[in-house]
Amino acid sequence: MLERLKTGLTTFKEVTYKKYERLYHDLEQTQDPHTLFIACSDSRVSPDMLLDSDPGEVFTIRNIANTIPAYEVSQNDITTVSSIEYAIEVLGVEEVIVCGHSNCGGCAAALQGPKKLDQLPYTQHYLKPLECVKEKIEAKQTDMDERSKARLMEKMNVIEQVEHLKSYPQIQERLKRGELEIEGWYYDIKSGSVSVYDESSDSFCVSDEYQNVH
Ligand SMILES: [Zn+2]
Repeated sequence: MLERLKTGLTTFKEVTYKKYERLYHDLEQTQDPHTLFIACSDSRVSPDMLLDSDPGEVFTIRNIANTIPAYEVSQNDITTVSSIEYAIEVLGVEEVIVCGHSNCGGCAAALQGPKKLDQLPYTQHYLKPLECVKEKIEAKQTDMDERSKARLMEKMNVIEQVEHLKSYPQIQERLKRGELEIEGWYYDIKSGSVSVYDESSDSFCVSDEYQNVH
């Protein structure tokens, strides 16, 4: 497989790099991304492919189940928090997107409960904050099939992580000043569709703008 990836490097240099050569030269010294994209590490979620974005446009954070620690427990995941801090304070991104996805292994593991992760102590610890999302689902719906429950978990996790993001004073300030927009997205791998969380209707829908394009 390494050989296949190295062939990919050659293709990058000869095809993709050539296509963007001028852009790469412009980007040599600095970056000015407009968006922070927080997504799952899942290999099926490919931000640049999904967004059709060019190099330099999107600053990306990826971790299991696209999580963000709440402000009170920010020390629990300093990697994610420092990347958010850099994107907001230094790069001055104007938008943050938290993007969940269908069939998320991290959400499924959290839904199954910590006992299932006894052999994965780091993951068990890492996914602990998702227990509150699981509890919300269990309190709400008891007669759902497993598949529907998993989808709900994935979507409610996005809403939860957006709320965590909004718990940071620096983020609140920027939202108040109208300098930042935050959206929660849900990417369905099979259909290739992305729905956006609408707070007023408390639902994920395919936005008009997005529909107009397609
Ligand atoms: Zn995932």
